[in-house]
Amino acid sequence: MNKTSPIQQLKHHLFTEHGINVFVKRDDLIHPIISGNKFRKLKYSLEHARNHGFKGILSFGGAFSNHIHALAYACKQANLKSLGIIRGESFYAKNPTLSDAQRWGMDLKFVNRETYKKRYNNDYLTDIQNEFPDYYIVPEGGSNKHALQGVAEVIDEINNELQWDHMITPVGSGGTLAGLIGGDNNKHKLIGIAVLKQAEYLNNEIMALLPENKKHFDNWQLALDYHCGGYAKFNKEAEQKMLTFAKQLNLPIEPLYSGKMILALFDFIAKGKFNKGSTVVILHTGGLQGLSGLAMQNKIKANEWPWLPGQQAL
Ligand SMILES: *Cc1c(COP(=O)(O)O)cnc(C)c1O
Repeated sequence: MNKTSPIQQLKHHLFTEHGINVFVKRDDLIHPIISGNKFRKLKYSLEHARNHGFKGILSFGGAFSNHIHALAYACKQANLKSLGIIRGESFYAKNPTLSDAQRWGMDLKFVNRETYKKRYNNDYLTDIQNEFPDYYIVPEGGSNKHALQGVAEVIDEINNELQWDHMITPVGSGGTLAGLIGGDNNKHKLIGIAVLKQAEYLNNEIMALLPENKKHFDNWQLALDYHCGGYAKFNKEAEQKMLTFAKQLNLPIEPLYSGKMILALFDFIAKGKFNKGSTVVILHTGGLQGLSGLAMQNKIKANEWPWLPGQQAL
């Protein structure tokens, strides 16, 4: 899994008018199937599992999870077994995300909301480990210390390619932003766009993920106003805006993560958040596989999203 992703300049009249250079780090292109940041986040967990004699990896996710999708394929590639503990009813097994995962050899165990809530509880995790002793347990979203190491490599890759000032990334659990903070060593300004409502708590989660010697870094912030109503929520107006911007930029997006980041980017620039002449890098964390599930649930119209995967991946 030693791969880098391309970096591309984005052109738009708004950027020119404000004298801002905008680049996108295309982690959505880092692997044809293993989605963007999940590739980075899983890289060293896979290595750890193999080096420590585990036969497989066990993790947690929702029924349309990019992490579960990525984990299934990454384990298949690494000759590891995989087991997904999925929140929800077993009929979800037929959805596009979980169909792929099973085709790649993942076993699924469906649990109700109450059980799923225990996914960070030590007693519960001990029980799970006893039940599946050959599996290395990775938390939801892949956010463990190995994830921080993998994500930090994004920073090195960008530093090798250009001089930059600000980076913007979408934030779910905060693992990706924590990895960027760790890798950047307080050199640039990092902005996380929370995709969930009432996400102030993520400041603490991110601090908790950072190693002791990096907790004092103060070059990062969370933007809490671009969640569009909550996780996996967005109204028609926001959706149309995302689509318009993405088409103008010729950049494939989905509405849960990259779409909300794009809205934030345009809003920041319009409001003069960045000084003239600065260079902003947005991190495309991938997740385009999720479009199929959104179309299936009628949350988007398939014909409005040109990047909807038309074919099954394998
Ligand atoms: C999981 C995911 C994120 C969120 O990453 P965190 O490390 O949980 O903050 C962002 N973008 C995409 C496409 C994802 O799949």
